Amino acid sequence: MVIPFSPPRIDDKIINEVIAALKSGWITTGARTKLFEKKLSAYNGNPNTLCTNSATAGLELVLRWFGVGKNDEVIIPAYTYCATANVVIHCGAKPVFVDVNKEDFNISVEEIKKKITKKTKVIMPVDFAGMPCDYKEINELVKKENIKSLFVAKSKMQEKLGRILILSDSAHSLGASYFGKKTGSLTDISVFSFHAVKNLITAEGGAIAFNLPDPFDNLEVYKYFAIFGLHGQSKDALAKTKKGSWKYDVIEAGYKTNMTDVLAAIGLIELERYENDTLKKRKFIFDKYTEAFSNNKIFQIPVYKKNNKISSFHLYPLRIKNINEEQRNEIMKRIFNKNVSVNVHFQPLPILSFYKNLGYKISDFPNSYDNYSREISIPVFYNMTEKNINKVISAVNNSI
Ligand SMILES: *Cc1c(COP(=O)(O)O)cnc(C)c1O
Repeated sequence: MVIPFSPPRIDDKIINEVIAALKSGWITTGARTKLFEKKLSAYNGNPNTLCTNSATAGLELVLRWFGVGKNDEVIIPAYTYCATANVVIHCGAKPVFVDVNKEDFNISVEEIKKKITKKTKVIMPVDFAGMPCDYKEINELVKKENIKSLFVAKSKMQEKLGRILILSDSAHSLGASYFGKKTGSLTDISVFSFHAVKNLITAEGGAIAFNLPDPFDNLEVYKYFAIFGLHGQSKDALAKTKKGSWKYDVIEAGYKTNMTDVLAAIGLIELERYENDTLKKRKFIFDKYTEAFSNNKIFQIPVYKKNNKISSFHLYPLRIKNINEEQRNEIMKRIFNKNVSVNVHFQPLPILSFYKNLGYKISDFPNSYDNYSREISIPVFYNMTEKNINKVISAVNNSI
């Protein structure tokens, strides 16, 4: 039997709730989605949350709402999934890549400082593998007078905020915490992913967690986004079913990014058991791996708990010391041959054709390349047995 990398947990509880959603006769955005949003806000400790059909859509919606466009720059880590950069490109702006830390793969605050210009509109930190970025430092940085005075507001929202927006790509980090607070309440806006391989699934899906400072009214912003993500239509499908309430207006050319109730049904079950079941199991697997690999100095153990940060245990990015990319690839081949599925997170964007062709060079991001060339992500999923865990450990050990 092949040990898969991260299959979703689909059990009778999930199946029954999806059936209930289907039988209810209401399959698009409705009561289940709204309940899921409320429960997400309660869990994360932020005022309002809007569910979307993906994290990608959520990130792009926020950039467009903030008025990011031509001649603007958005700072992102070079070490991320392509979605983080592509949404910036869709808006016509320029992604400005920044190198990451050696230790935890997250965006380097020192490197951010060097890349801020008067064109910078947004910084998008990525909580790699579920480990929160240095939000205290990043939040403070954009409020500094010398940084604020560089900021040129071009839209109403930019004027209202009066500084660079922090938009966290929290695709990996639902449930992670930082100084006792959960992701979603750590900075201005955070976007989660519920894609099939993520920690909490709805098959495809995401959520925008609003946590904007004064003078923003997060409820007002939430209401605006619900319309903005539904063609700019002043009433959603549910509101239109109310007696005599057929007539609506379109206030702008919005997008189409809403979550369906069929998928929210999965999310509701997933969230109910997330903290005390899913995360506990993932931590158990992480600790088993760490216990086993700490015995051999060739391994560099990932950091998933440090300085008031606790990971959501999304990925276990094991690094091998003193090897090159070819040797890493060879080790992976051997692990696969022992029927264990492994992965690499991520290929830094500057090595991929599209970004390379735009002129980005991997040699400008030495930590990203070093992390990538020695990294192997090993399986972590809810239904892993101790036997599975031990098989992964011995497959890795025997392949080194
Ligand atoms: C998965 C992922 C996304 C995209 O999430 P979708 O829900 O598939 O749009 C964005 N950023 C990172 C870092 C991811 O891993």
